Amino acid sequence: MKLIPSKEKRRVKMSKKCVYCNTELTDGRSIDVCDRCGYGVWGEKMFNTIRSQMDDAREKGNLNQGFIGEGR
Ligand SMILES: [Zn+2]
Repeated sequence: MKLIPSKEKRRVKMSKKCVYCNTELTDGRSIDVCDRCGYGVWGEKMFNTIRSQMDDAREKGNLNQGFIGEGR
């Protein structure tokens, strides 16, 4: 018995891990660094800026690749 319908399956992506500490990142962020390491490396403010820029870039990328509005 399959619990995940095939159309949902496409949205499940490979799990990401923090490149620094290998913590699994489950919140769908665009950057492969967890908050703890990001704050440690860049500082909280800088890391938040980097994250939002990457989220932004990803959204634009998704639009270009047609991932958004795939309504079925
Ligand atoms: Zn980490």
